[in-house]
Amino acid sequence: MATCAKCGTEVDAARALLSPQGMVCEQCHYAEQASPGGGSYGKGAGGLGVALGVVPFFLRYGSVHTTTVNGVTTVSGQDFVALGGGGGALLLGLVGVVAGLRAKNMPTVGIAAAAVALGVVQLLRGLLVF
Ligand SMILES: [Zn+2]
Repeated sequence: MATCAKCGTEVDAARALLSPQGMVCEQCHYAEQASPGGGSYGKGAGGLGVALGVVPFFLRYGSVHTTTVNGVTTVSGQDFVALGGGGGALLLGLVGVVAGLRAKNMPTVGIAAAAVALGVVQLLRGLLVF
């Protein structure tokens, strides 16, 4: 028999799992994995989303047409960097918000929400070219 280092329950040594705190029972082991793991996973997704949402401010690649008809100039086209980065930022941000909320990790939710906001801005830039 072994004693769980977290809840003190007597567990079969064969079923006890090794953790940084020592031997823990299966329940404590998985409870520990679910919480900080989920938070950092969400933070990773949110952080990557913010990066994707920022890059198109510095890079542009797309087709922009300037048409002048009767003295009125119309700009049309798409910015592919903004569309791709914005779409990626929006998706990763949403993943991060969900993961952060599940782990009740508010800093993660904040970062991921920033990625969502940047994603929306970039998609608008990509479609309207401004
Ligand atoms: Zn335990």
